[in-house]
Amino acid sequence: MIVNQIGEARTALHELIEQSENIVAFTGAGISTECGVPDFRSKDSPWLRYKPIEFDLFMSDVLMREEAWRRKFALDDIYSMAQPGRGHYALANLVRQGKMSSIITQNIDNLHQLSGVDDEHIIELHGNGTYATCLSCGLRHEIADVRRAFEASGAAPECRSCGGPVKSATISFGQAMPEEAMQKAHKATQACDLFLAIGSSLVVYPAAAFPLLATQNQARLVILNGEPTPLDSEADLVLRGDIGDILEPFAS
Ligand code: NAD
Repeated sequence: MIVNQIGEARTALHELIEQSENIVAFTGAGISTECGVPDFRSKDSPWLRYKPIEFDLFMSDVLMREEAWRRKFALDDIYSMAQPGRGHYALANLVRQGKMSSIITQNIDNLHQLSGVDDEHIIELHGNGTYATCLSCGLRHEIADVRRAFEASGAAPECRSCGGPVKSATISFGQAMPEEAMQKAHKATQACDLFLAIGSSLVVYPAAAFPLLATQNQARLVILNGEPTPLDSEADLVLRGDIGDILEPFAS
């Protein structure tokens, strides 16, 4: 069923939430657009301004590493001060009520954490852009420190401990998915009875396979997005509208 009208959408979602005991959310860039973080595929996306730098190239070419950091800082200037929106707070409330066990997110913006959800309930499939790590020894580096050093020298950062290459803690094209997060996401998806896919175009795999996995395990699938997705025909309920508007009443 596709619901476009906001009141009907809220009622239908409320009913499904009431009937469910273990809800899992799966979020994409659309939940953060009202917070000032542009999504990936919409018109004029800053993420698509340049051809992505594949992981292998980042590793093998120091000039590409420098370029990746220049792009990262330019994006940070757009959204690093973003605060959670109505959708984030609605999900945080469901976690607090014990209704929602996990939030699986493709986002890298840290906004689920900032909405008050503990790390144990958040599964990040594509990493987190608010810090960096050394690709050799795994040491965490703060973005502000990396930026200060980069702006002073123009050189791609190296780990202060082992000299290895430092990269924003996000998953690049061509980089392996984080194994532990993938396993946790599988487990959470297989255990839930309601799966809410929110603000994702559902075209990035393997992440977009999770809604299908949920349906294979007899969970009900709700897709909330502003535009159609390739998985709409698999969903029990499709809510077509603005995420913040629809989820606002669930925040309190
Ligand atoms: P996407 O850009 O492919 O899809 C976002 C979807 O949300 C679109 O269909 C869009 O129409 C919809 N949308 C946007 N604002 C909306 C709103 N207010 N209400 C309802 N719908 C809305 O994003 P994706 O599927 O998450 O895939 C993009 C990839 O890029 C992700 O894997 C992620 O790692 C990365 N990314 C992350 C962020 C972030 O962290 N916020 C932002 C951009 C890209």
